[in-house]
Amino acid sequence: MPELPEVETIARTLALQIVGSAITSVHVLHSASLAAGAALLPALAGSRIARVARRGKLLVLCLEHDADAVPVLVPGLPKASLYLVFHLKMTGSFFVHPPETAALKHTRLIFDLGENSRPEKPTTRGRLFFDDIRTFGYCRVMLPNDFALWGFFTSLGPEPLSVGNEDIAQALKRGGGNIKAALLDQRRLAGIGNIYADESLFQAKIAPQTKISALSRNALLRLAVSLRAVLEQAVRECGSSIRNYRDAAGNAGSFQNSFMVYGRKGEKCRICGTTLLGSKVAGRTTVHCPRCQKLP
Ligand SMILES: [Zn+2]
Repeated sequence: MPELPEVETIARTLALQIVGSAITSVHVLHSASLAAGAALLPALAGSRIARVARRGKLLVLCLEHDADAVPVLVPGLPKASLYLVFHLKMTGSFFVHPPETAALKHTRLIFDLGENSRPEKPTTRGRLFFDDIRTFGYCRVMLPNDFALWGFFTSLGPEPLSVGNEDIAQALKRGGGNIKAALLDQRRLAGIGNIYADESLFQAKIAPQTKISALSRNALLRLAVSLRAVLEQAVRECGSSIRNYRDAAGNAGSFQNSFMVYGRKGEKCRICGTTLLGSKVAGRTTVHCPRCQKLP
C-alpha cells in the first residue's frame, strides 16, 4: 500500500499536471470507488483544482468553485470549497491522459479536465484517471464541514515530518502494545505502513515485537530520528516501487533499492551478515535482524 513517501510523491507529480485545471465532467465506472458524496458530483463541474495536498495516506484535491459562499477551513489543509479525498489502499493510482482517451481495464473514476488557468499551461486539457486493480481504494467528495468532522480524518495522528522528535516519541506512547503496532497505528502517527515501520525499527536497532512500555525515552527518541531520516530519504527517492506503484507521471520510485530489511526475509543483514528473520507482528509480515535489533 502506498505510504507517506509514495502518496507525497504522487501528490507532487499530480500537482504539476492538474493544478489550475477546471473539472468539466466526472464519470463513475465503478460505483463502490465513490465512497461518499455522489450527490455532490454535479457541483464538481465548473470547479477548479486549486491544490493537491496529502494528510497521512490520504491524497486530497482542493477545489474552488466561483459560485461558492465563504469556504470553511479544514484543520491542516488548504482552504477550499469542496474536497476530493482519495485513499489509494493497495493499488490505487492516478494518471493524466490526453482528451478522449478511453477507460482502461482498471479505471474506476474519470475526471475530465478543461482549460488550465495557469499561464504556463493555458490550454492543457486531459482526463484524470483513478485506476485501482484491487478496488479497495476510494474517493469521497466532501464539503468542508463534512470533511472537518469525518471521524477517520479527525482521528489521524500528527504528521511525522511536520513535528519534532519529542512529539513523535510522545505520540507512539499513546497506547500500549508493541512498537511495530504503534508505528502502524494511524491514530498515533499518520502515514506509516509496513515498509517504513520495518526500516525505521532496523535503523533504530529496536526489535519490532518490543513492548512500548519496555522502551526508554532515549530509545523512542532514537526511533523518531530514524523514522524521520527514513521517510525523508524515501520522499527524496520518490518512494518505493513494489507491486504496481508508480507516481502520477508514470515513474517508479527507487527507495526499494535501499531496503535493509523489508521484503528481505532469509537474506543476510547488510550490517552484520546474520540471516534476517520473518515473523508476524501486529498481524503484519515483519522482517528484522535478530542481532542488530535486540529486545531490551
Ligand atoms: Zn544485523
